Amino acid sequence: MAPGPARAALTEFVLKVHARCDLACDHCYVYEHADQSWRRRPVRMTPEVLRTAAGRIAEHAAAHDLPDVTVILHGGEPLLLGAERLGEVLADLRRVIAPVTRLRLGMQTNGVLLSERLCDLLAEHDVAVGVSLDGDRAANDRHRRFRSGAGSYDQVLRALGLLRRPAYRRIYSGLLCTVDVRNDPIAVYESLLAQEPPRIDFLLPHATWDDPPWRPAGGGTAYAGWLRAVYDRWLADGRPVSVRLFDSLLSTAAGGPSGTEWLGLDPVDLAVVETDGEWEQADSLKTAYDGAPATGMTVFSHAADDVAASPLLARRRSGRAGLSDECRRCPVVDQCGGGLFAHRYGTGHFDHPSVYCADLKELIVHVNENPPAPVRLDAGLPDDFIDRLAALTGDRVAIGRLVEAQIAIVRALLAEVADRLPAGGAGADGWEALTALDHSAPESVARIAAHPYVRAWAVDCLAGSGTGARQGPDYLSALAVAAALDAGTPVRLDVPVRSGRLHLPTVGTVLLPEVGDGAARVETGPGSLRVAAGDVTVAIRPGTPGDAPRWWPTRVLAAPDVSVLLEDGDPHRDCHRLPAGDRLDDAGAARWAETFAAAWQVIRDEVPGHAEELRAGLRAVVPLRRSGAGVSEASTARQAFGGVAATETDAGSLAVLLVHEFQHSKMNALLDICDLVDGTRPIDITVGWRPDPRPAEAVLHGIYAHAAVADMWRIRADRQVDGAQAVYRRYRDWTAEAIGALQRADALTPAGSRLVRQVARSMSGWPS
Ligand code: SF4
Repeated sequence: MAPGPARAALTEFVLKVHARCDLACDHCYVYEHADQSWRRRPVRMTPEVLRTAAGRIAEHAAAHDLPDVTVILHGGEPLLLGAERLGEVLADLRRVIAPVTRLRLGMQTNGVLLSERLCDLLAEHDVAVGVSLDGDRAANDRHRRFRSGAGSYDQVLRALGLLRRPAYRRIYSGLLCTVDVRNDPIAVYESLLAQEPPRIDFLLPHATWDDPPWRPAGGGTAYAGWLRAVYDRWLADGRPVSVRLFDSLLSTAAGGPSGTEWLGLDPVDLAVVETDGEWEQADSLKTAYDGAPATGMTVFSHAADDVAASPLLARRRSGRAGLSDECRRCPVVDQCGGGLFAHRYGTGHFDHPSVYCADLKELIVHVNENPPAPVRLDAGLPDDFIDRLAALTGDRVAIGRLVEAQIAIVRALLAEVADRLPAGGAGADGWEALTALDHSAPESVARIAAHPYVRAWAVDCLAGSGTGARQGPDYLSALAVAAALDAGTPVRLDVPVRSGRLHLPTVGTVLLPEVGDGAARVETGPGSLRVAAGDVTVAIRPGTPGDAPRWWPTRVLAAPDVSVLLEDGDPHRDCHRLPAGDRLDDAGAARWAETFAAAWQVIRDEVPGHAEELRAGLRAVVPLRRSGAGVSEASTARQAFGGVAATETDAGSLAVLLVHEFQHSKMNALLDICDLVDGTRPIDITVGWRPDPRPAEAVLHGIYAHAAVADMWRIRADRQVDGAQAVYRRYRDWTAEAIGALQRADALTPAGSRLVRQVARSMSGWPS
């Protein structure tokens, strides 16, 4: 047996705050299985144990510099503590742990005692509440009964009714269902779904080789059959809810983490503190033998690091090396990981495959052979692309894929524009040069195609409207000159001049008032431009800073690790819902540069994942004309991915505007390649941020953008920034309400539903 990473951090702590239960479920591993240590333990965790445990957790988080830790209140039944003591426990945990790291609080309850008062308390302390429910009345009451023999179904449903209320919905973390193959799988699945949980956990009944699970006669892999039926139905339903078991298998099938100790090779990072302060391993081990979870350590004598290094825990953290020979040779070991550790026990040791081995194998093969239909994504994007874009933590790689898709779209638009060119007429040489450059210097052409307002021009040009139509298809020559400059390739082309201006995207604008509307001959040399029109000849070195009498270079907003264009010269930038400002003077440009650099620091500090995304996708910032109201405003345009327009403002506000608007930009780009809204079900939805009902696509945009804004204000509230709490709550509530309304409206495609579910999941641990 190879030891694991002895001193890696634990991140999840289960506190047994009350060791008795008001139910007497006959499948309970705490009271009904081999370990009987509950008999000798105090009923309640004392304040001294609780504070010492909290101190150990804080000490561990500080030593390992953990960004967050999860503490789950468990039992027995934690609600038996009563509201008063529960409030003290939660306050103590926050007081001791929250100054050191972000504390995520959770509770697993049977729900029987849940009341409005308790829900208020749990919401006040941001406790994510998971409830145990085994299915419909018959399924649930088969095992989940009071000592009197009466079933608990009605009480649990009442509790779930409370958790579904808008006021408590955000603390409802999911349902935990223990499988009994005597229950009808579809009836169980549907009855769980009816409770609108954010997540369902299906657990196999705890069993070992010494005490194997009940199976029907001839039902060799009855558990696999049961779970397969649920899986097939879940797929057919379009995966309406997260099911941890299936999500885990799909994740590991793609090489991702399992996210659960039940499956896969993720290292175990959980420890338990019993009511008397003893450190224990996971409760599931209670099924193995009396004393199996014991570590021989207490919170008074030992730190969490000592627990992490204990031999059994170390083995459970050692991945494949800690498995039996049979498991190590198994073709599905990366997904199965030998199943739950406790289920491997038999004849005095754990060196066996899972007692559910045949079931797990059959289920894994079934899932692998029947993956979800890929969400319809063009450009060969992976199935988890939606999840990655929905994660509020940011994903630079996913943005890179969006950029690639956008460039492909722009290339196709350019080809369409070229088709409109008269043979041998103006622009034909430009197209020829551009296609030649695309062979010799494709990166240079891609950089020009990625400029947001190239697409805006092409779309207008093809539609015969706006500045794009006025510029005309021969603007292709301007693109060719810009790409040639980027590549250092000499070209000589006639480039259109409109209203006395010759614009080269990403490069700058040559002022030729004498020409009005017409064309100028442009020659590029190494780092230089020569522009001739009639009697006027202008020599330009595009890289030199500062305006010259006939030359407005496109300026740059820069911070040490990013630079974007300050776009106040491109004639196609005025495609936003708000009017673009005029060319800035040097003082105005310097103010923008200073504010942008400061805003970038704010973004990097508050939401580094978004900084990564912006670095990958933001190309240009367009100064907007100041509005009469003097408020900060910003906008993105449907046809200008990577462009954000904003009024001049302070750094903190610009940081929020950039993150907010880039979310819209991402959503626009995603809508280009993926159907998110079901067009057959048009519907208008009332949302918090607008007085008028909005179509589903606009609501989707709002959810995506406002979730990111709420996240920024959540972080500011965490840092005690004045007024941040109220702004955070406003955006969070708008977003959460809109998610609920959009889900109820049933107006999304499976891909759209998946995106919204992922956003909701990202928000699920947020504080009140
Ligand atoms: S399927 Fe069986 S042999 Fe394979 S890893 Fe799982 S428990 Fe081990």
